[in-house]
Amino acid sequence: THTALALGIDIGTSGVRIAAVDSEGRMKGFAAKGFTRREERHSPAAWWSCVEECFGTLAGQVDLNLVAAVSVDGTSGTVLALDSSLIPRGRALMYDETCPDPAIVSRLDALVPESSTARGPYSALARAVYLARKHGARHIVHQADWIAIRLGASITSDENNALKTGYDLETGTWPEWIQESGLGLEVLPEVKPAGSVIGPVGEQAVALGLPPSAVIVNGTTDGCASFLATGASEPGDGVTALGSTLVLKLLSDRRIDAPAYGVYSHRIAGMWLAGGASNTGGAVIRHFFEDRDLPALTARLEPDRPTGLDYYPLLGPGERFPVNDPALPPRLEPRPADNATFFQALLEGIAAVEDQGYRRLEALGAPALRSVRSVGGGAANEAWARIRQKRLGVPFLPALSTEAAVGTALLAWRVLRQ
Ligand code: ADP
Repeated sequence: THTALALGIDIGTSGVRIAAVDSEGRMKGFAAKGFTRREERHSPAAWWSCVEECFGTLAGQVDLNLVAAVSVDGTSGTVLALDSSLIPRGRALMYDETCPDPAIVSRLDALVPESSTARGPYSALARAVYLARKHGARHIVHQADWIAIRLGASITSDENNALKTGYDLETGTWPEWIQESGLGLEVLPEVKPAGSVIGPVGEQAVALGLPPSAVIVNGTTDGCASFLATGASEPGDGVTALGSTLVLKLLSDRRIDAPAYGVYSHRIAGMWLAGGASNTGGAVIRHFFEDRDLPALTARLEPDRPTGLDYYPLLGPGERFPVNDPALPPRLEPRPADNATFFQALLEGIAAVEDQGYRRLEALGAPALRSVRSVGGGAANEAWARIRQKRLGVPFLPALSTEAAVGTALLAWRVLRQ
């Protein structure tokens, strides 16, 4: 069948993935190329050669001439410097790298408002200031921006990637105070909403097999893309990530920001995506149990018979969300003799924090939770899902996909439907 396709390109921490998705959200093609050496994750040239390789694979799966739109997501907070010919200068500074010059971080801490996500040693803005100075850069862009530029986009970023670099969503501008950090505003990309049309693809995209009629849709961060991939699409739709930490995301019709709780919102697809991260999560489970022992313990869970143990599972004192208390002690006692009971109490405890988290977001102004989709290592545990569902009292829905690339393709599809 010859139906139109949207491509989502995900530049992740471990490699590049591209998904071709049809108008029904079905994945028609998928290609992945992992970084082979660790240096590749911060090498713009390596990102691009992985993209090229993925296009080669995709061409064998789908007719690339059917591609009507393409969009890119990248790791949030990864920045690189470009010269006036849009050629990268040196390597990128990744989201998880501290700014190499601590003086820039202290300077910014004095400048950046408390409510901004651009504060601290891991600030993307600090990395941007450092790179601009080091290379005398003409442009600073985010990882996703640069791949879109290679596909033919103008020097544009999206509100999601720009947020961590200090962009002010309220005023829709790069704040004036950024200039006091030594970074000229003209070095930063123009910012448009995620999911808006940037323009037609360029020569390099055509060389990869895309038709000249295809448009580039402004992309987003890997985190927002992973959320969209689940299929969550209405205010009140929540996505719980049960990984090493417990991370909640909730679509909202209003913006919610509560810096004290580490809660902030992205604007996406005409809505707001609010989120919060707790210190509880799978890391506490892994502290007590090997992954290989979990299936046997899971088989012995009794979701309909709560243990009554009121745990707050933490590895050490301190919590930010849903309660902001740097001294909050772990609550993991008494420990029952039976490991399955102990495991169940841990799962119940994490479920209680999840419940409290969604209620916190609601108290901060978000809509009431109406559904939950689960992702991450703990999502496959059905007995845990039952424990959580009983506690949260809303329908639990399967995630459409766990591939960020699919979420980015869905973002591109929203444009095609308009
Ligand atoms: P990360 O956040 O590090 O990417 P993952 O999403 O891979 O984490 O999830 C790993 C976590 O999931 C581990 O902490 C592990 O204890 C937990 N986990 C794995 N399998 C299960 C299970 N069946 N039930 C509950 N938790 C699980």
